[in-house]
Amino acid sequence: MPSYGPPPRNDERLKVAPPKNLKDLPRYLKETVGGMFSRLFYIVRLVWEASRLILIGMSLLALAEGVMPIIGTFITAHLLSRVVASFAGEVDLITPLIFQFGFIFANSILTSLSGMINRMAGEILTNHVRVKIMKKAKTLDLASFDMPDFYERLENANREAGMRPLNILNASFTLVSRLISAVGYVVVLGALLTKLGTFAYLFFILFVLLSGTSAAVSFYYRRKGFRYMRWRSKDRRQLNYYSDLMVNKDMVKEIRLFDLSDLFIGRYKSIFTRYFAGVKSLIYRESFWNITLTLCTAAMNGVLFYMIATHVKLIGDYSVYTGALNAIASALGSVLAGMATIYEGSLFIDNMIYFLEEKQTLLPNVAPALLPEHHIGHTIELKDVSFRYPGTKRDVLKHVDLTLNAGSTTVLVGLNGAGKTTLIKLITRLYDPTGGVILLDGKDIRNYDVAALYKLYGIIFQDFGKYAESVRDNIWFGQIDKEPTDGAIVDAARRSGADVFIDKLEQGYDTPLMRYFEPEGLEPSIGQWQKLSIARAFYSDSDILILDEPTASLDPMAEQEIYDQFDRLRKDKTTVFVSHRLSSATTADNIVVLEGGEIAETGTHAELMEKQGKYFTLFSTQAKRYRNGEE
Ligand code: ADP
Repeated sequence: MPSYGPPPRNDERLKVAPPKNLKDLPRYLKETVGGMFSRLFYIVRLVWEASRLILIGMSLLALAEGVMPIIGTFITAHLLSRVVASFAGEVDLITPLIFQFGFIFANSILTSLSGMINRMAGEILTNHVRVKIMKKAKTLDLASFDMPDFYERLENANREAGMRPLNILNASFTLVSRLISAVGYVVVLGALLTKLGTFAYLFFILFVLLSGTSAAVSFYYRRKGFRYMRWRSKDRRQLNYYSDLMVNKDMVKEIRLFDLSDLFIGRYKSIFTRYFAGVKSLIYRESFWNITLTLCTAAMNGVLFYMIATHVKLIGDYSVYTGALNAIASALGSVLAGMATIYEGSLFIDNMIYFLEEKQTLLPNVAPALLPEHHIGHTIELKDVSFRYPGTKRDVLKHVDLTLNAGSTTVLVGLNGAGKTTLIKLITRLYDPTGGVILLDGKDIRNYDVAALYKLYGIIFQDFGKYAESVRDNIWFGQIDKEPTDGAIVDAARRSGADVFIDKLEQGYDTPLMRYFEPEGLEPSIGQWQKLSIARAFYSDSDILILDEPTASLDPMAEQEIYDQFDRLRKDKTTVFVSHRLSSATTADNIVVLEGGEIAETGTHAELMEKQGKYFTLFSTQAKRYRNGEE
């Protein structure tokens, strides 16, 4: 039985119990810092997969960017000393100047290179992640798409696909290069600290304390920010919903005529105000702490500068030491900011990792999976089948026992919401039943290879696909492993009656559909779309035909024609129709009346009419309406 439990939310997965005692500290560090590094490693692997060259380039640049400032400080110091010495007499200034300009030149080359690599990395990485997400989406269970939680993750993953991994990687590389600089400068300053005496050590300790506090503040607020975003994720999705709604092509008619624009804009604004109030307060509070800490650091640096100035004799040394101090302060600042960015990013990136690691549950139950036989009649049996949509509390199908005999036609009848479409989703293994079993040719449907199983079905759903591709492709998609020869495509169109409108098109079967991409694209009417989708079913030579209200948008004449065609063409294929118009049921081998997820009646038209039960009532009501000209 599938276990569609709600998946754990990200922040629950990320929740790390605080350490209980000192012995527990390693566990805590492993879970927090280790978790961060494992996500970072994931991103590095992602970039490696996307382009090794980019990763190598970024690493080399980080290294260079770390060493360059130290070299720069020495070159400047050297130049300064030479300039001072030149006041006293002839000194060669050309060589230090060449070094200085060489350094400036090399630095700007590095900046350009880093800009170039970053832009390329952005494009390559986004593309790589998008393709990964698309491939993942291909394998996911339909059930996952029913869960709001899953949708949230999917949206997040899609959003994060863009810049977040790159930002994290950049921050990590900056962090590495700043660490390299900082270590270099600490070595330089080490020499000075001994000259300054005890005070210097005191300052050093203060400096570390201040940095630690500012790191703690950063981490605290980043985590709070992340939590807030998660907490308000419904708000953010609603904001997206309203802004998409206003530019949605299908909605624009109704929104205009019912004058809903201002209402939706108003709702958008009020949600934003609520959402922003929290963000604002977080920003203010974090900024307050940051400013306070910066003031303390500045005061401390002032004193230290004064001490350096009074302790060193050479202007060059002064420049090296104050430069080093400044650089360490700024390097530490960037390291802390970088770590906070990585930390925050790793929380967000978890959405993507989690989505990419989502497991498929609709897999064959046995290994090796069975392969269904093709081009034979198939029998489908439902034994005590019950079903409940994931995350809901109500069975929409209850103890259904039903046999669809090989080569027979079954019509499913019932009011809206009776469970007809759901039954079809189970027969085709888009979902697994939550109770009972479905057999295909005597074997559990779950034992078959899923892709091979899907190939058995030619199916048109009520909400069939409308593809912004050519007319030809829209028919060919019925079976893409079959060569789309003109003969086969035109034949399928003729059978569904779609040929009538296609023949009138200037570009015929090559006409692009919809106006998403092509200004001259055709926007077919619903009826025309429906005929195209039926052509798709005719095009596929699948063994089992399933039509879920395929003719709802067609007039009764066209509908009858299509049913007649199906009757002639289906040969010995097992066929299931869901239809509101009961005239189509009269010739079926078996009619199944579903009511509230249960089978109320089964039998042929004649049997059920004689029984004068539910079907009789439904049929008579509809026939009366037909006679009165209401339909
Ligand atoms: P029918 O095809 O007979 O009109 P359906 O099979 O579409 O009925 O729906 C049966 C019941 O299942 C309805 O109550 C519907 O609200 C519910 N339902 C359908 N799809 C979903 C879903 N994805 N998640 C939750 N409930 C659903």
